[in-house]
Amino acid sequence: MNQDNKTTDNENFAYGPSPESTEKAFTWLAKSKNNFGHFIGGKFTNPKNTFKTLNPATGKVLARLSNATEEDVKKAVKSGKSAFKTWKNISSFQRAKYIYALARLIQKNSRILAVLETLDNGKPIRESRDIDIPLATRHFYHHAGWAKIYKHKFPGKEPLGVIGQIIPWNFPLLMLAWKIAPALATGNTVVLKPAETTSLTALFFAELCIEAKIPAGVVNIVTGDGKTGSWIANHKDISKIAFTGSTEVGRLLRKNTAGEGKKITLELGGKSAFLVFEDADLDSAIEGVVDSIWFNQGEVCCAGSRLLVQEGIQKNFLSKLKRRMERLHLGNPLDKSTDIGAINSSQQLAKIKKLVASGEKEGAKIYQPKLKMPAEGFFYPPTLLEETHQSMDICQTEIFGPVLTVIPFRTPKEAVAIANNSRYGLSASIWTENINLGLDIAPRLKVGVVWINSTNLFDASAGFGGYRESGYGREGGMEGLREYLTEPIAPEKNKSKKTISKHVPPALPKQRNRIDRTRKLFIDGKQKRSDSGYDRKIFNSKNELIGQVPDGNRKDIRDAVEAATQAGKWKNMTAHNRAQILYYAAENLELRKEEFSNTIQNMTGKDGRHEVESTLETIFHYAAWADKFEGIIHDIPIRGVSLALNEPIGVLGIVCPDKNPLLSFVHLVFSALCTGNNIVAIPSERFPLCALDLYQIFESSDMPAGTINIITGEQDSLTQILASHMGVDALWYFGDGGGSKMVEKLSISNLKQTWVNDGQEYKWIEPFKELMELPLYKGTQVKNVWIPYGE
Ligand code: NAD
Ligand code: MN
Repeated sequence: MNQDNKTTDNENFAYGPSPESTEKAFTWLAKSKNNFGHFIGGKFTNPKNTFKTLNPATGKVLARLSNATEEDVKKAVKSGKSAFKTWKNISSFQRAKYIYALARLIQKNSRILAVLETLDNGKPIRESRDIDIPLATRHFYHHAGWAKIYKHKFPGKEPLGVIGQIIPWNFPLLMLAWKIAPALATGNTVVLKPAETTSLTALFFAELCIEAKIPAGVVNIVTGDGKTGSWIANHKDISKIAFTGSTEVGRLLRKNTAGEGKKITLELGGKSAFLVFEDADLDSAIEGVVDSIWFNQGEVCCAGSRLLVQEGIQKNFLSKLKRRMERLHLGNPLDKSTDIGAINSSQQLAKIKKLVASGEKEGAKIYQPKLKMPAEGFFYPPTLLEETHQSMDICQTEIFGPVLTVIPFRTPKEAVAIANNSRYGLSASIWTENINLGLDIAPRLKVGVVWINSTNLFDASAGFGGYRESGYGREGGMEGLREYLTEPIAPEKNKSKKTISKHVPPALPKQRNRIDRTRKLFIDGKQKRSDSGYDRKIFNSKNELIGQVPDGNRKDIRDAVEAATQAGKWKNMTAHNRAQILYYAAENLELRKEEFSNTIQNMTGKDGRHEVESTLETIFHYAAWADKFEGIIHDIPIRGVSLALNEPIGVLGIVCPDKNPLLSFVHLVFSALCTGNNIVAIPSERFPLCALDLYQIFESSDMPAGTINIITGEQDSLTQILASHMGVDALWYFGDGGGSKMVEKLSISNLKQTWVNDGQEYKWIEPFKELMELPLYKGTQVKNVWIPYGE
């Protein structure tokens, strides 16, 4: 038994101390003289440039790790790149066997892995042993299966290349599993960087890769700090970044890699709500709170850190909760009866203290049970902050510690409003014995995961990830695999430096001999003049004036976003009714086929009939999908189900290309409409006329006001306004390379999801199959609703 255990003082607890043995873990550390290099190209490098990793329960040094230089990162990426050539081409069966071997080895070494994790991170052994390591194992098993069969589910899709993976310190091995298993299963290679305070289990895993005979270079692990992480993310040969960590760093990664065409998924912070309704089974709900905010010391991205209790039961519930808090065991994480272990680092401890102090200063009333605190190490007691209100910093900022705030609510409607009053949107937990109520509330919460009468349940088959500033992309499930595969919409021609040219009107245009109609903007179901009062003249290829469109500005975009935000009808309509309205629009367009063909011909000088025919077919295509892009039910390993729902993203901005101006507009707008989004669309700057003519079609097709809004004007400036707007949840951009980069850069304001063409032109007439499918995925995000049942 090692020295760590002597520091525990469990005398005041009913249980006697029952510490887990650390002997094997310390023997393993000693084998490397407690000094570690990186794992690159299948071998460990010599330790260099080292820094310490501590046991946060004692403050003592466990080992020294190497801080990777840019050279180390380059070597790791190079080795990943050369391994990719063979790894992507081995058979699915062979790859499945490798991943299966990793699963077996993690399972075989689960005890030592659990101890190492607890030593390095500070989490209770009960959790590392019963939750972290089994879930990591399950993730590898599940993905060994996917390695064998994913090609059946994703025909034609290819692995991406070398994936850069950066993970946090709260679930070190589990986050590694979430990253590495799907990447390898789909034929990618990886360079992974664990967090600087918790790299040991990743290094142990590297040894398991050797034991499993994973080909050299398929898995590379470099240790180091944020700088190392940024070298990985910025490396030109990294095809995708998979990041889990703070929203702040997630933003930075998005910004720094804008315009590079890298895929990126971000699993970020949270401030999740735990809703207790008055008909809830209160004793179960109390245990739920314990598992929600005191699991892993509250250092959980999806921790239920905001308790919302219905007014009538608040007093009773809180007094029960306080009694329960008195019985929590805080102390030596290695002790099997410990509930709350050590905070991961002194910095994190200081951050928690500071945030709680600021909450008290703002007027919150603090409750902490009188637990005996260990003399050394980084510990913080379970904490309840009462008399808080939504505007307090403590109710909005992620604390990432064992601290719970309480806010009462009166009605379900108010509960939803409070729960959604957050920049984040990771998860929520709903407690009620009324399944009607639970299932009614779940879709209203703007979060990626909902647990009904349960909390913090995870499984490899069910995707995990957030809405809003909790990031985008999913880990686990099919949606997680999709993130590691190509999105091949073949461009019509290769990316050229010179992108879509801007039309320069001549100085003295020749007036055409007919009455020109000045079109209007379309906002909130009404035709509107632009706020500026100015119009833009539109010329044909012979430089004849053929019409005028409003010159939209910031105010027009604001009004359009506001209208789209308020328009709730479309999303809540049945899918059948949405389909009917889309079909109806096709009917109405068909009646005016000639006119639209003429306008296209007038604008572009090309025959418009074929484009209008294709447009009608495209509307039929997405009307057909409207009631068929369904979710699935996951077979999770508990008694219960997890419903994976495809939900619309919300307010979606769409900037349309010049090419086939009617068809491309309709393709993008109708695909986003069919999945239930509300739209602010900016038609082609050069050929905007027929997009605006569509408002008559929308008006006569029973499209609810605000569902689709159309703003014409200068695309660059309108795009910039949309991309920075906090009320826009996603932005699709089909313009030039510079615009694509700008969109990705500005999207960090509220971490909007982006889909850009990187300046490539697509074939809209008889398009590739991918282009008919991809918008459905781009327009939705998966929400997983967990519903356990029975006893
Ligand atoms: P962090 O963002 O500081 O660090 C995460 C990782 O990023 C670490 O490996 C770190 O070294 C690295 N990093 C730091 N700066 C970097 C940079 N400039 N470029 C590249 N990499 C950089 O976060 P943390 O404090 O370690 O972890 C806590 C945060 O992680 C919390 O906000 C939590 O909510 C979040 N988290 C989210 C999930 C999820 O799945 N959504 C899971 C766990 C943790
Ligand atoms: Mn550590």
